[in-house]
Amino acid sequence: MFKPLDIKEDNQKNDLQASDVEKVKCLIIGSGPAGYTAAIYASRANLNPVLYEGLQPGGQLTTTTEVENFPGYPEGVTGPVMMEDLKKQAERFGADIRWGMATAADFSGDVHKVWIDDNKLIEAETVIIATGATAKYLGLEDEKKYAGGGVSACATCDGFFYRGKDVAVVGGGDTAAEEAMYLAGLCRKVYLIVRRDELRASKVMADRVKKMQNIEILWKHQTKGLLGNNGVVEGAVLVKNKGEAGEEEVKIKIDGFFLAIGHKPNSDIFKDYITTDEVGYIKTIPGTSKTNVPGVFACGDVQDPVYRQAVTAAGSGCMAAIDAERYLSEKHS
Ligand code: NDP
Repeated sequence: MFKPLDIKEDNQKNDLQASDVEKVKCLIIGSGPAGYTAAIYASRANLNPVLYEGLQPGGQLTTTTEVENFPGYPEGVTGPVMMEDLKKQAERFGADIRWGMATAADFSGDVHKVWIDDNKLIEAETVIIATGATAKYLGLEDEKKYAGGGVSACATCDGFFYRGKDVAVVGGGDTAAEEAMYLAGLCRKVYLIVRRDELRASKVMADRVKKMQNIEILWKHQTKGLLGNNGVVEGAVLVKNKGEAGEEEVKIKIDGFFLAIGHKPNSDIFKDYITTDEVGYIKTIPGTSKTNVPGVFACGDVQDPVYRQAVTAAGSGCMAAIDAERYLSEKHS
């Protein structure tokens, strides 16, 4: 996950000292499979890439358990190990990987400006945006009220705290299925709250969930609110068959409430310059990683509303580095 803040104060920009400004050939923003793969390719092409890792080094996969579908790992691999491997591979070829978060961007000139942590300006000839996507919430007031007290969007990060307890997962996709399976291994009971009467998850994942003894799927249920005490979740109020005959309110007793309803692309700080779709996914020229701004490229989940896989993200990271290298060689020829 990469969660940029939109802080773009002109005063702040003007206050920067000359020593806070660094010129680079290739700036990579984000450290998921897309960012690290771009760093591997860009390093090997002598672009001396500088990569800023963002809020969650390693990206979304660091919150995943087993990755079984990334080619080259016949026995599977955990998300954090895979990301550490990708990082080491990029460092082996000289990528300069740094802790820090892009907080503002200005792509109006020939040189692309990106501010890091509001206090350092990078002037880059090419920028590769690999900022990924962030988990979505339902938008209930109670999600904020119980934040840190039982509401989470990451089972692998927080599941440990609910060992032997009852929890709920909201969503019907692969993420929800995966989170429910993970929690089922730790918790006494897992409710899977699904708004339709079928799962969006792949068949293999859906079958696993359906077979699991301690997972109960609540079909056609939506969450109305949470119950609790002193900021700690104790239950959820659901609506079954909302808007239909037989609509009824259902209460469940739970200690943890996990969201797994998809993600929002982290493109906010680029939106003044970079074209996105209505959801915020960066638009690239089909078959390339090129955005509407020459020298700025996008890869991974921030530009992919369709596939959103580690392997496709990695592939698009490779494309972005190759596109950046070709852009630079044409510019300097
Ligand atoms: P998806 O968009 O695939 O699924 C989101 C789920 O949340 C859907 O079931 C959707 O319901 C539900 N949902 C959305 N909004 C709400 C809401 N407001 N209230 C209740 N339910 C809601 O997202 P995922 O994060 O699951 O997956 C993203 C991509 O990543 C997919 O392509 C998936 O295949 C992939 N992935 C692959 C994994 C793997 O292979 N190991 C693991 C995890 C993800 P509805 O179906 O009704 O729209």
